[in-house]
Amino acid sequence: MTTLTFDSLNPATGEIVGSHPKQTPDAVHQAVGRAEEAAAWWAALGPAERRRRLLDYKAVLTQHLRELAELIHQETGKPVGDATLELVLTLTHLDWAARNAQKVLGRRRVATGMIGLNLAATLEYLPLGVVAVIGPWNYPVFTPMGSIAYALAAGNAIVFKPSELTPGVGVRLAELFAESVPEHPVFQTVTGLGETGAALAADPRVKKVAFTGSTATAKRVMAACAENLTPIVAECGGKDAFIVDADADLGAAADACLWGAMANAGQTCVGVERVYVVDAVYESFMRELSERVTKVKAGEQYGPITMPGQVEIIKRHIDDATKAGKVITGGPDSVRAPFVDPVIVEDVPEDSPAVREETFGPTITVRRTRDAQEALSLANASTYGLGGTIFSRNARRATELARLMRSGMTAINSVISFAGVPSLPFGGIGDSGFGRIHGADGLREFARPKAIARQRFAMPGMNLTSFNRGPAELERLVRLVTFLHGRRKR
Ligand code: NDP
Repeated sequence: MTTLTFDSLNPATGEIVGSHPKQTPDAVHQAVGRAEEAAAWWAALGPAERRRRLLDYKAVLTQHLRELAELIHQETGKPVGDATLELVLTLTHLDWAARNAQKVLGRRRVATGMIGLNLAATLEYLPLGVVAVIGPWNYPVFTPMGSIAYALAAGNAIVFKPSELTPGVGVRLAELFAESVPEHPVFQTVTGLGETGAALAADPRVKKVAFTGSTATAKRVMAACAENLTPIVAECGGKDAFIVDADADLGAAADACLWGAMANAGQTCVGVERVYVVDAVYESFMRELSERVTKVKAGEQYGPITMPGQVEIIKRHIDDATKAGKVITGGPDSVRAPFVDPVIVEDVPEDSPAVREETFGPTITVRRTRDAQEALSLANASTYGLGGTIFSRNARRATELARLMRSGMTAINSVISFAGVPSLPFGGIGDSGFGRIHGADGLREFARPKAIARQRFAMPGMNLTSFNRGPAELERLVRLVTFLHGRRKR
């Protein structure tokens, strides 16, 4: 007999947190059908009313902050404090999306140029319809809401498939939305395993898929989307580098590096995984780092590995790194599933799995480099390109390095700070995916540009789009274009 439900477990204790339906493809298609109707209603509601509803939803979520933090804690194992921080960041994004949607997407006049002098042109960004959000478990509210909040603000309806590890909080997000928008199911959550997500991505009525998870699954989702030419935004993790330049505040750098790598047990797509330190400060930085890491333990400052299967990958990377490099902290014994204590290894070859593949655990590799330039080249030699960090007291030099870093986002003298700035777009390049959530780009990601050109008057003697056009008109056009564009700049 087929199981009709599945359980979400507390990864620290193995206790059942909740039981949820494994929604069949049929159930998913029905949800998309309902969403299609709800999308039309939500779009017609208009930006001002949508803003009011979304700000109300923000208040409802805020009122349930403690309950949601506890649920995140139970489903992921992360400390309640970290879950609270995740929720607070989510609220700032929801607030920004609600307040800025009209300004970013609303109808505006655009210049028409000399040749279009007789035209009035307007541009606006219209809703797509139903947006499917397929979310991960590591930040089960912040990450999917980075798409959901922006897509809702842009006037779309949502069908959300949370990770099978964190269904409870996904269900709660939609239930609470219905308190602010009771009329229609504008935001629905469907629970289940991979097949539920696959059915959602394959539904032709879905107008965009926002996916967060592994690169391998992103490819499968994209293949399903190709059938219907459904566009996708893909956020697939990374192998972020942390560069310490000669003039860095080493205490602050070590502190940030450790938190960026170990917080949430390293299960952060923009977490620190590779550290490059310039020769001049290498020893001093390592002293700072080694001292600080003694105070960090799994089960105290951070929780367990949420996804049981990930422990094997982390273990393989640690085994490989410790064989090839020199251990600073921890080692194979640091893995005591479901917990993994911090592991720091130096001089691991750049072509080893621990340096090339995403570990998603509380581990880092550290390498000494001649200078910041070499650090940057090594940082950039990754198939991933999501985030990254630079520590330097020279703001100009750090900004230059940041601009040359092959990644979607870079933080200077702090870690992950870009994720908390709602006006900054979030996303990567290469194996880290494409498309952007957050900010104005994140709003436009879930909208379609609509361009309108209206002729205000007929241009005398210049009716170019007509079979009545004569040689004199063409001659005038050539003269005009020569005047406008024919002067060389040398
Ligand atoms: P997956 O890529 O397997 O899953 C991500 C989401 O996709 C989940 O909701 C999953 O559902 C769903 N899904 C799985 N198969 C399909 C499918 N065929 N069609 C549509 N949706 C599908 O990630 P995991 O959770 O298994 O984590 C594995 C790796 O992903 C980690 O090691 C890490 O490297 C990376 N990752 C990156 C994250 C990031 O923030 N960038 C977040 C989480 C993981 P279900 O959970 O039910 O399988």
